[in-house]
Amino acid sequence: MNDKKYAIGVDIGGTYTKFALVDEAGNITREQRIRTDSFPTPEDFVQGLCLHLQSILDQHNERSPIRGIGIGAPSANYHTGVINGSANLPWRTYIPLRDMVAAQMVGMHTVVTNDAKAAALGEMQFGVAKGMKDFMVITLGTGIGSGIVSNGQLIYGHDGMAGEVGHIIAKPNGRPCGCGRKGCLETYASATGILVTAQKIMLANRLIPFETSQEITDAAMMGNPMAMEIFNQTGKVLGKILAHVHTVISPEAIIFFGGLANAREYLLVPTQKAFEEELLFVYKERKPQFLVSALQHKNAAILGAAALVF
Ligand SMILES: [Zn+2]
Repeated sequence: MNDKKYAIGVDIGGTYTKFALVDEAGNITREQRIRTDSFPTPEDFVQGLCLHLQSILDQHNERSPIRGIGIGAPSANYHTGVINGSANLPWRTYIPLRDMVAAQMVGMHTVVTNDAKAAALGEMQFGVAKGMKDFMVITLGTGIGSGIVSNGQLIYGHDGMAGEVGHIIAKPNGRPCGCGRKGCLETYASATGILVTAQKIMLANRLIPFETSQEITDAAMMGNPMAMEIFNQTGKVLGKILAHVHTVISPEAIIFFGGLANAREYLLVPTQKAFEEELLFVYKERKPQFLVSALQHKNAAILGAAALVF
């Protein structure tokens, strides 16, 4: 006897695309990944991805069928199923992702949303945001995304594009961003942005720069003062912008997700300090909790993408 519901969750990232079979209790099986940037065109990518998805379908011999495919991707639009020029994918073109996947996976219900919104859904259904009605998930990966839940509902905006917190200008005329403008938050506080900061600080001190954000975290854990300074500078920028975002949505929690969130207190302590310094006085009585995703290593984005289907 088996009445479980199943869906395939897909998390498309700038570097890797991960996918798995998910049941409605949040159990993940058959997890696999492919390199997003190894495909020259979106058409090649979709074809490669669908071959893998088809093999998951072919190997599925449970009695309950797979209900559909949920996909989280950078800059993807829930309403249209389209990615239109993501700054964080190898291809900057117009990609009608939902229709392309549906054309190859005939008969499968296919839903697409922004990767950060998928993470917020995953957090609400399976993670630390269970029972919360007002919170924000901020994803600190190759870029920065956010999924904002207000009064229990994900905010999509009239065009499906709400929540591009990573492209709030943190420093006017600052670092060039993939979006074509300058000084966006993600050029400072993403896993990519922090490496630029590391490079500046370390070259100024005649040191060989760290090559990954994980190296910075590992060094901070060993008490390396350069690594601490890199996190302090990053937290200062991030905390200030989060204080601005707070004035708009007043969440009960801000949940950190993605590669850079692995740094935990090394990033969160300076971020929270800058946040509180910048926070408007009316919010000081009931500050939001700063939390790290409980699904960090369980793939909230895959779970959230699957939750779109359920
Ligand atoms: Zn930008």
